[in-house]
Amino acid sequence: MTSKLEAVENNIRRAAAEAGRPATDITLVAVSKTKPNDVITPVLAAGHRTFGENKVQEAAQKWPILRESYPDIDLHLIGPLQSNKVRQAIQIFEVIETVDRPKLARAIARISAEEGRHPRCYIQVNVGQEEQKAGILPQKADDFIRLCRDELKLPLEGLMCIPPAGQDPTPYFTLLKEIADRNGLNKLSMGMSGDFETAIRCGATSVRVGTALFGDRPPLG
Ligand SMILES: *Cc1c(COP(=O)(O)O)cnc(C)c1O
Repeated sequence: MTSKLEAVENNIRRAAAEAGRPATDITLVAVSKTKPNDVITPVLAAGHRTFGENKVQEAAQKWPILRESYPDIDLHLIGPLQSNKVRQAIQIFEVIETVDRPKLARAIARISAEEGRHPRCYIQVNVGQEEQKAGILPQKADDFIRLCRDELKLPLEGLMCIPPAGQDPTPYFTLLKEIADRNGLNKLSMGMSGDFETAIRCGATSVRVGTALFGDRPPLG
């Protein structure tokens, strides 16, 4: 388990060095979705603190108990967020990476104020303009960034994407970076087990890695 963590960290360091970037610029988000706590605990014990989950309900079941032993966890929501789960998400997550529509952004702003908890936010961009995929369309991203950051005053850190499967992700990662650069955002959550080295070459500041750390998941996990 922790040897996989070391291997992924080494690969991140190598990709960063090849890109001429300091490895400290890149955060590893360990994607623990579908994995039980006894699989997550060794990674926590090894000192890792940044994790990603894609379902609010599953995170609510797993993480409160882990936090009792490891209070400094930085938990990221990386899956779609329904409006009726916003309050629970705000209570559980330090970061919401999947802000992708005005209604959701407004709900996060309102409920964050009510809860007195303000998770850092990323806007998910549907870089491949895929019908079945979440994310704001690239041509609507600038306006949506303005709404989130300037009007709603969300603590917007950057942008997140999941490029189309089975294609070279480079143009999609590059597109995400262009949108971030022209809007003065400097964090990019992009790259998964299969393509995080490419994402680092394209400017990723965090990579979301599940399989390479925790092994395979059941289908549709
Ligand atoms: C599951 C998931 C990941 C991790 O994928 P792996 O290929 O297992 O590394 C990354 N990002 C999102 C949004 C995910 O849902």
